Amino acid sequence: MKGHQPATTAPGPAGIDPAALTREQLHGWRCALCGTLLTGDRPLGTVTISQSPTLTTYPLWACDPNCTTENAWRAAIGHAAGCEACRTGECETGQRLLDAYSAAIRQEHAEGAG
Ligand SMILES: [Zn+2]
Ligand SMILES: [Zn+2]
Repeated sequence: MKGHQPATTAPGPAGIDPAALTREQLHGWRCALCGTLLTGDRPLGTVTISQSPTLTTYPLWACDPNCTTENAWRAAIGHAAGCEACRTGECETGQRLLDAYSAAIRQEHAEGAG
């Protein structure tokens, strides 16, 4: 791994980097995996973020039952379009979004196969 650690954050569930989450994702308004505005949600676990002298723990939420491929794909390309790190292929957030997309595809295939 790289030596540089941007913030004192505890690793989140499902490989989520807490520093990469938006305020809306931390407050449970949007899916922590794909960034879609939540209607139904399922708990993902918690992340802990160090801000000033305090540690704050946020519960994370994701689309229920799963992120759709459309949402996950839109999140992945939307992120990559504005991300320098993704261009060099070393972006953990980009990788996580692509993983969410792959998981959504697998889920859709599993449902389709019946
Ligand atoms: Zn989602
Ligand atoms: Zn990226």
